Amino acid sequence: MAAFTAEIVYRGIFQKNLAARIVRGIVLSARKSGRWGIAFGRYGDSPQRNGIPAKDFAIVADTKEELEQNMARYEPKHVDVTICVDDTLAKGVESWAWYGLQPLNRLIVPGGTLLITSLQPYGDILRDIHRKDTPFTMALIRARASFSGLWVYKEDHTEVRILGALAKIVPAFLSLDAVCQAVSEMEWGSDLKVASARKAYDRLESREIEAGEGNPETPYSFELPRWWEMREGVSIPAIPLGKPKEGGKGYVPERNPYFKKFSTRTMRPVIDFDTCVKCNLCWISCPDSCFDVMPDGTFDANMESCCGCGVCEAVCPVEKCITMVNESVFDDNASQWDAWRQDKDAYRTWMIDKISNTQATVRSHGFRFRGQYEEELKSELDAGGQAITAGIPGENAQHKTV
Ligand code: SF4
Ligand code: SF4
Repeated sequence: MAAFTAEIVYRGIFQKNLAARIVRGIVLSARKSGRWGIAFGRYGDSPQRNGIPAKDFAIVADTKEELEQNMARYEPKHVDVTICVDDTLAKGVESWAWYGLQPLNRLIVPGGTLLITSLQPYGDILRDIHRKDTPFTMALIRARASFSGLWVYKEDHTEVRILGALAKIVPAFLSLDAVCQAVSEMEWGSDLKVASARKAYDRLESREIEAGEGNPETPYSFELPRWWEMREGVSIPAIPLGKPKEGGKGYVPERNPYFKKFSTRTMRPVIDFDTCVKCNLCWISCPDSCFDVMPDGTFDANMESCCGCGVCEAVCPVEKCITMVNESVFDDNASQWDAWRQDKDAYRTWMIDKISNTQATVRSHGFRFRGQYEEELKSELDAGGQAITAGIPGENAQHKTV
């Protein structure tokens, strides 16, 4: 291998700065060991939208000529390493820059590596990661997803932990010494961050994934004409009006069949239909027209089109009637209202199980007030890492932040 390519699949806006630091760190580390490198974003992903999956790339080569050869493509079609800094993206990624749902591991070459930050066990992640017909390695950094905002950066060391892990995954291109040297010289580097990179190198976990192992679902896809296939006078059909639900009661807004948006979310609303006062506020406020009006006057959020913004939870006047819960604890996009109508007791048990999960209901994304991240990091340190690292041997809060 005379060149290696990495992609970072990240959440638009919330992880934009994080992804940029990682690809830049890869290139600077490569330069420290006398190699050549380039970092760039996917053209079609800009401008970004909150939470929407987006990509950055880094290519490292032994020589300038090899680098130029690898840069000849518009964007890499195959990568040696896919980096994912939010494990809810394991369900697949849909961007407005491509059609349908792409498996997270789609571009990984046979024997390549998927590097994820996650607190989930391998089996739970594999329930989401789509099957591949070639083997690959899944490498885990034990940490929860790192989110910030457009103008802020969360200094939780995720960027250097990824770089330290890469030194273990592709040592022929990024040595640990080169990574540490690059980190200590970067404007955002420090001795503490060098220590974090080394710890990530030492503690990286990995597992071989066999061909055919993983989620058997076929990701949704469809064909649309390419821009060069379009002819003069082409018209784009508008989305039709909605229609009443079966039996003439209720209302279902029409939705874009080509852009479902659910891979945009890291959290989803869980609704308590028993306490809903049918005030309409969630329905009116949802920016993605997710809610179906049900025949009994309650509102069911359509999980294929919900982008997880949390507006419905914020506007609902009834306490705990809508609770946002981390996407990783759900396995499908089934209707909550259907489940409730079918068996109300069973739905209540399911709902309480979800909304009482204190780790899954911590709001994961977005910046809300000055000093927020310092507070979050302090509370994690004060908790001694117990809650966030439950079930992970050898993990502690110091490991997460230092
Ligand atoms: S979180 Fe609520 S408001 Fe936001 S898209 Fe989903 S259903 Fe709509
Ligand atoms: S905002 Fe809350 S109470 Fe009002 S209709 Fe929606 S779920 Fe029911």
